[in-house]
Parts: sequence; structure tokens; C-alpha cells
Amino acid sequence: MSKKYQVVKGFRDILPPESKLFWLAEKLARDLFARFGYQEILLPVLESYDLFACSIGTGTDIVEKEMFIVPDKKGQNLVLRPEATASVVRAYVEGLASQGPAKLFYFGPMFRYERPQKGRYRQFWQIGAEAIGYGGPGVDAELILLLDLYFKDLGLAEIQIRINNLGCKICRPSYREALVKYLTDNEAGLCEDCRRRLSTNPLRVLDCKNEACKTIAQSAPCPGEFLCVDCASHFEGLQRLLNLQKVSFQVDPRLVRGLDYYTRTVFEFQAQTGLGAQNAVVGGGRYDGLVEEMGGNPAPAIGFALGVERLALLLEQKISRSELVAGPEVFLIFSGEEAYRFAFQLLFLLRASGLYAEMAIDEPSRSLRSQLKFSDRIKSKSALIIGEDELKNKLLNLKLMESGKELKLEYQGLKNLANIDWEELKSHLQTPGFAYAGREYEQTLVQNRDLLKLLKIYFNELNKLEA
Ligand code: ATP
Ligand code: MG
Repeated sequence: MSKKYQVVKGFRDILPPESKLFWLAEKLARDLFARFGYQEILLPVLESYDLFACSIGTGTDIVEKEMFIVPDKKGQNLVLRPEATASVVRAYVEGLASQGPAKLFYFGPMFRYERPQKGRYRQFWQIGAEAIGYGGPGVDAELILLLDLYFKDLGLAEIQIRINNLGCKICRPSYREALVKYLTDNEAGLCEDCRRRLSTNPLRVLDCKNEACKTIAQSAPCPGEFLCVDCASHFEGLQRLLNLQKVSFQVDPRLVRGLDYYTRTVFEFQAQTGLGAQNAVVGGGRYDGLVEEMGGNPAPAIGFALGVERLALLLEQKISRSELVAGPEVFLIFSGEEAYRFAFQLLFLLRASGLYAEMAIDEPSRSLRSQLKFSDRIKSKSALIIGEDELKNKLLNLKLMESGKELKLEYQGLKNLANIDWEELKSHLQTPGFAYAGREYEQTLVQNRDLLKLLKIYFNELNKLEA
């Protein structure tokens, strides 16, 4: 027997119907981003090692132990990107900065060498947005409100928003000093990682998942106590704007983010249930110094990244599997060779006209019974039965699966089906006589002798009934 291959550890296939959740997440994001003025940026998956070492910081988990390093043929180190903010900033400085501020979004896979567990994989998908060249709290509020709307639209209203302000290059140093002093006094109680972080990335100690470190972190000084006038007013400004929109959020004075580049506003969207320890669905924040550090003209900026796997886990709890598998609007059932040919042509007409239509396309001699079964199994909303008698009488039989209701459809011939004026059809649908489902419809339309019109209107009504 040939060898069976397995997916690489920590990586996974996103199979249907779960892939539908990703599609949903992406589709809604695209729609929302467009309305908020964010344009898509498509980035490479491979970047130089230095890009992340310099931006994210050498003392971070990502750079210290989570990067997938890929040496190229010249011995230069490339990495599979662990996140996209650094890439967006690189791309902005390289190709967009001359045009001024930019609001960008991306969708794509990220790679981190982590211990795989629920909600934590080595390849995972992120949807993110970055607003570069915007310094005021208005755009901070915009991003948070965008996400709030996004979760509400997905039916996930119970996600909690936490915000904090980490200070800027003026006030952060005195906070850092106070924090290091406090942590040094309590060093004996810290985990090994955090003792090292004390000199490399002390803020990260506040984000450690170790219980002993968490207890120490609870009494640590907070950045809020050290904010300069400008940072404090930025933070107040953001809260005022969020309150104006009546969005509920919590100030979490010890919220920090794991990467070096964050300044001022940081935020997280956390699920209260359903994700276990991996409850952060979105992480975001300001990085006012990064564009300049990466060789651009100084430009304040802010962004977020949303983990699609964690979002999918939450959506799975709301949307049933059967809702995800949408069956065809119509399944064509044929009996005999002539009927097969008729059905085959009709199938593509229906598809071209915007309907999801299906048939047993590669089995012209499949029995009626087995076709019906198949149609049932893939949850078709209706079945159009085409047999020899039906063709002779130019009368097809459309069966609505849920109600069991049957409709006789008269038609003149396939040729007529191709010449449908969809605009005219739409206008028909809008006239009062047509705005109501029921018999009246069927009779009027049968006089039109136009099968596709019938079908189209029929499915339109079907949707109305289901809505
Ligand atoms: P965590 O504290 O959970 O490790 P993080 O701070 O490393 O998160 P970010 O770098 O801010 O996460 O990434 C933003 C979002 O991406 C996270 O909130 C999460 O939803 C998702 N994410 C991060 N790492 C992973 C992973 N390994 N697998 C799946 N999703 C992830
Ligand atoms: Mg992490």
C-alpha cells in the first residue's frame, strides 16, 4: 500500500464546512473595511529576519522562540511572517509613504512556532487593519468601533473590549524604571522567563500566564500612573469618543501587549466563554515610533490583528453545521437521455442566471429514486423533475422540498429561456401585483410561459418565506 501523508504538526487543513466560517469572517470584514475607508494590501508571506527582529524586538517571545526561519540559497535568513504589522509598515515606507496617510487592511496566514493547542496553531489566519499617519484618538476610536460593529454583525455581542495606555517615549521610561524596580524587588517569585524579561522586556511580565507572575503583576505599578499630559489627554479623548457611541469597554490598567513597538493606546477584544485560556480574539495598539524606526518619515500609526481561528471557534457555537451547508436552490432530476440533455442545458442557464443549481451530471443513467435521494442528502431546496412526458407536454414539475408543495411549470422551449430580460423581471417584481406570494403569481406567470422567469420569481418567494 502507498504511504499516507499527514499534515505537519501544528498546521491544519480548514475543511468545508468550517472553511465557510473563514469565508464569512473575511466577507464581512471586507465589506466593513470598505465602509470605513480601509483598502486592501496583499503582502508576501516571506520577509527578512531583521524586519521582525528590529520591529517586534529581540526580547519578545516571537523573535526569541517562535519564528519559522527559512535560510535562502545564499545563506540569508528569511522568515515566514509571524505577524503583518511590520510588513505593512515596510511596504508603506517602500511604496506608499509619498502619498501621505494610509488606511490599510490585510487577510492572510501567519506562522509562529508555538505549542499547538485549542486556539493556538503554528499557522493561523489574521484579519488586520493599520492606519498610518494618524495621531489623534479619533482613529483609535474608529478601529475599536469597527471591530465592535464587526462582532455585533456576526452575532457575537458579548465580547469584552479592554483598553489601556502605555505612554510614549517621554513618559514610558519613568514607568519602565518604576516597574523594573518593583519587579527586581520581587524577582525571587518570578518564573525563569520573566526573570530574563526583567532586563529585555519588563512590560511583558505583566502579560505572563504563570500564576506566581500573575500575582506579582497584580500589585505592580501601572503605566497610567506615569502618563504625561499628552498621553493622558489622548487616553481621555479616546474614552470620550467611545462613550459618545455608547460602546461598553473596560479600562484595564495592567493590559500590555507582548511586542516592543506599542505606544499609547493598546486594546484587546476578549471572549468571556468558549475559548479557554486563548481568549484574546483581537490585539491592537498604537505604534507611533515604528514608521520612523523602519526608515520612514515620522508618522504615528495604530492597528489591530484578529485571530480568525478563535473567531471561527466562537462562530461555531452560534451557527449550526446544517446552516453552514447551504443546499442548491434547485436540483434537476431527469429520466431518460433526452431529459438528461435538456437538464444539462437548463443547469447552466440557471447557474449563469445566478442560481445555485445541481444535478447528477456525470451519471446520465442514474435512477430517479437515487437522484431524489441525492437531492435530499445535499439539502436541495427544490427539485425540478424532467421526464419524457414532461418534455412532450412542455410542463415541468417543481417540488418544494420543505413544504412538499408542487408547481407545474409550462414552458415553450429552451431557446426562449436564454432571452430573459432580468431588468424587466426585476421591475415586474416591484409592481404591486407581484409583490405578494401565492397563487395569483403562478397563474400570471404561467401565462408568460417562461420557465426561467417562473423559477426566478419562485425562488425569490422561497427566500422571502424563509427570511
Ligand atoms: P496570545 O496572548 O493569545 O498569544 P498574542 O498577543 O500573541 O496572543 P497577537 O500577536 O496580538 O497575539 O495576535 C493577535 C491575535 O491573533 C490574537 O489575539 C489571537 O486571536 C491570534 N493569534 C495569535 N497567535 C495565535 C496562534 N498561535 N494561533 C491562533 N491564533 C493566534
Ligand atoms: Mg502569543
